[in-house]
Amino acid sequence: MRERGGEQILLVDDNPTNLQVLFKTLEGSGYRLLAARDGESALYTAKRARPALILLDVMMPGMDGFEVCERLKSDPETADIVIIFLSALTDSQSKVHGLAIGGVDYIAKPFQADEVLARVRTHIKLQRLERELARRNSELEDENRRILNAVDEGIFGLDIAGRVSSMNARASALTGWRQSDAVGEEVWGLNLFPGDDAMNESLKLLCKAGVSLRKNHVKVRHREGTVIHAALSGSARAEGGAVLVLRDIGEWLANQKALEEARGEMDKQRQHLAHIERLSTGGEMAAGIAHEVNQPLTAVSNYARVAQRLIANFPEEQRAKLDDVMTKIGVQAERASAVIQRMRSYVKKPSGAKSVISLNNLLEDVLSLAEVDSKMSGARVVLKGAADLPTIHCDEVQIQQVALNLVRNAMESTAAANSNRPVEVITYFNSKIAGFKVRDFGLGLSPEIEEQLFSPFVTSKEGGMGIGLSVSQSIVQAHGGDIRHEHNPGGGAVFCCEFPVYHESE
Ligand code: ADP
Repeated sequence: MRERGGEQILLVDDNPTNLQVLFKTLEGSGYRLLAARDGESALYTAKRARPALILLDVMMPGMDGFEVCERLKSDPETADIVIIFLSALTDSQSKVHGLAIGGVDYIAKPFQADEVLARVRTHIKLQRLERELARRNSELEDENRRILNAVDEGIFGLDIAGRVSSMNARASALTGWRQSDAVGEEVWGLNLFPGDDAMNESLKLLCKAGVSLRKNHVKVRHREGTVIHAALSGSARAEGGAVLVLRDIGEWLANQKALEEARGEMDKQRQHLAHIERLSTGGEMAAGIAHEVNQPLTAVSNYARVAQRLIANFPEEQRAKLDDVMTKIGVQAERASAVIQRMRSYVKKPSGAKSVISLNNLLEDVLSLAEVDSKMSGARVVLKGAADLPTIHCDEVQIQQVALNLVRNAMESTAAANSNRPVEVITYFNSKIAGFKVRDFGLGLSPEIEEQLFSPFVTSKEGGMGIGLSVSQSIVQAHGGDIRHEHNPGGGAVFCCEFPVYHESE
């Protein structure tokens, strides 16, 4: 290691006396001294020893001082050696030439020892300061680069003409542009915002007129053609040009989307819950009505029986007529009562209990319930039950609800289309599933409805709630089954409901 103040100085002069004087002048001043007596050996020593400074005589035989200087300056290894010319030539042209080719100073011969020493000291000191400054500069630059490369934002430095002057690693990663390719290019030439003339215009205003720029969401084209989503800000620099910052918001956008989806799903569930609450309130009301109506109906049939007994003593002809009427009253009352019974069992809260049932039997009950609607709408329903239909394991009341809903929809559509073809309820099976189809020849489904058929509150009916199919789907899926819609080639709609077959061993 060189000691502080221990820089090497090369003394070059073809005149040994001069060399000696120089030696004496600088000896003891703390520098290590080297000497050369011509240009060639000066070059050789300079290259090998790399002195901090050379006191270089201009007038030498062979290679003169100017040439030595030029050759040293043109070699990067020796270019930063400080050169002070010594010469008896005092014309200003030589001085200017010396300084022009890279010398820092010029001492006229004959020289004063004090002057030589003072100038050498000054220039050595200057060189030290310069080196220190360069080192600090490069440290700061490294530090800058490290910071820029550590940040999560892509940063472009732009000059006043909009050309990229610098960029960090993240800017490369986001845009696919390598620093070596992008630097020197106009930023709008990188095609980061293809077709977005307004954005390219804003970038020009930013660089040339210092109009700052902020966008919460821009699409940036990666060099390979993919698109990234980013927030962008551009700020003018005090010294001219601008800084453009891109922040990748892809992940943030994805999170936002997931959040919105979760919110949507929550809303759906909330609506579903509200629906179920309404259903159960409706169910309770129906149960109450059934209870209230059932009592007078029982009374009617009891009175009919009593009246029948009382007329036993009537004359034959009258008795036969009255008996017939009374029998009809009794039959009708019992029929009404049976409808009420079925309604009560239909609306009773699902117990959640599953039993092994035959779809054919279940659908027969559903058709009896639908009879009331059938009378009102004029649409008929027929059941085509498959023989040997395997059983399924289900909550009977819930599956009745599903089937009744499908049959009612089919009847409404049939009536609305003024079709006289009956709604068909057809059971079918294979080794794995048992199911039923509800087929009608009514209006069929409009494409808008079909698109979101099983979503809640989708309805084409005035006063319709649009929740029947959504609830039906939840029920069927909870049974491990499937419900779907098909077009009826004969016009109208077909809904298929399928359940896993129940095996004895299960
Ligand atoms: P709602 O009957 O209260 O409208 P649904 O969920 O049961 O509710 O039905 C939703 C919509 O699906 C109906 O409004 C109707 O447009 C359509 N739809 C259901 N079944 C049929 C069918 N068999 N034929 C034609 N359209 C139907």
